[in-house]
Amino acid sequence: MPADPDVAIVGAGSAGIAAARRLLAAGLTVTVLEARDRSGGRTVTRPFRGHPVDLGAHWLHAGPINPLVRLGSLRGEPLRRAPANGHVFVRGRPGGRAERAALDRAFDRADRAMTQAAKAREDQPAAMSLPPLGPYGRRVAAIHGLVSGRPLDEVSLHDFPSMEYADNLFIAGGLGAYLRRLGHDLPVRLATAVHAIDWSGQGVRIDSSAGTLRAKAAIVTAPMAVLQQGAIRFAPTLPDRVREAVHGFTQGVYEHVILHWPDAPFRGADRLASLTGTRRQPPGLLTRIDGTPFHFFELDQPTAAAFDRRDPHGPFRYAREVLAEHFGHRAIRNLAAVHVTAWRHDSWSRASWAVVPPGLYAIRDILKAPVGGRIWFAGEALSRAQWGTAGGAWDEGERAAGEVIAQLR
Ligand SMILES: Cc1cc2nc3c(=O)[nH]c(=O)nc-3n(C[C@H](O)[C@H](O)[C@H](O)COP(=O)(O)OP(=O)(O)OC[C@H]3O[C@@H](n4cnc5c(N)ncnc54)[C@H](O)[C@@H]3O)c2cc1C
Repeated sequence: MPADPDVAIVGAGSAGIAAARRLLAAGLTVTVLEARDRSGGRTVTRPFRGHPVDLGAHWLHAGPINPLVRLGSLRGEPLRRAPANGHVFVRGRPGGRAERAALDRAFDRADRAMTQAAKAREDQPAAMSLPPLGPYGRRVAAIHGLVSGRPLDEVSLHDFPSMEYADNLFIAGGLGAYLRRLGHDLPVRLATAVHAIDWSGQGVRIDSSAGTLRAKAAIVTAPMAVLQQGAIRFAPTLPDRVREAVHGFTQGVYEHVILHWPDAPFRGADRLASLTGTRRQPPGLLTRIDGTPFHFFELDQPTAAAFDRRDPHGPFRYAREVLAEHFGHRAIRNLAAVHVTAWRHDSWSRASWAVVPPGLYAIRDILKAPVGGRIWFAGEALSRAQWGTAGGAWDEGERAAGEVIAQLR
């Protein structure tokens, strides 16, 4: 591992791994500094009862433009298409054709309304452009709020529709395990938290928990919410425009309650389930992951926040109560909650992804310009077409590395 490399990369998540691979392929020397004792960042796969389960990112969204899909195909990775049609249950019984069609129509109308309003109007909260959607309106708003990371009244209308959620894929063994394979053999210093980046002289001087190193350039992939906390001090301070952009993002929250439920009433593998018709609706449910008895019960930001500073078993109980309301107590007899994630409290993520609030559409792009020709930012927050995703982070890591290569040449 070079002590004074050409390029120092802060963070060994998707963006950092992509950047390191690109720089090394161009013949530059690289050191990746990673605060955790593992690489992968917000992608990590853990075994539960012998099955690999993702604790962070799981879907490969937007297949046709996702660089992790392209690379996975070239490498012969075990990719598979996500089923297009999910389950629909109304008060515990399978929904009929009319109910499915009504739900699909409500989603289509919402998507069309938001896409058109984004073209025609000034930026505003995405929720303001939703038309009345009848009985499924609540469900549509809940799902969009879940995938956005915040309720739609806190999300930029101009930013939201740029994300492509079509043509999703999964990878056998988990997305975290895949990223780990891609990061294998890279020069990563684990358990090395960066505290300060000095760019007052030539190149950069980086102070970390493992000492100081110098490099010609730095690529910073630490999440926006971590930067907002002042975890990395910049000297001189970052230009106002850049600082304001970093602080403009809000924290997107999306947490998995991982359920083991062999008797779940869901057929097939990897299908989303839409449960409707009761007072409470679960924010999201991905069933029989990889054909196993594991399911993701997803918590959106308001639901997760309601459990903060309270009983840590609250999310488990909530998932049980919601599922009992739909399917009855007998049906959940052998349901066990095996893990609940808390990325929003993790010192090295502080959020599931970064969200652009209304009126701040430009902040992703502002961060793409290098600071002093020496510091590049990268990571999911900078991606427009694949915001908040591992694929978007990868793209941004490659973009930053490409610009560094051009600069150093
Ligand atoms: C529960 C959950 C579900 C998700 N689902 C999906 C999904 O299905 N599909 C999808 O594509 N995306 C999903 N995402 C989002 C996806 O995980 C992220 O967008 C992506 O992994 C971010 O990659 P990144 O490289 O930008 O950041 P990170 O993966 O966070 O990498 C940044 C790295 O920097 C390190 N770091 C931070 N501060 C410092 C410091 N001071 N010094 C040194 N190192 C530091 C961190 O430890 C981390 O390893 C999900 C996220 C969560 C939490």
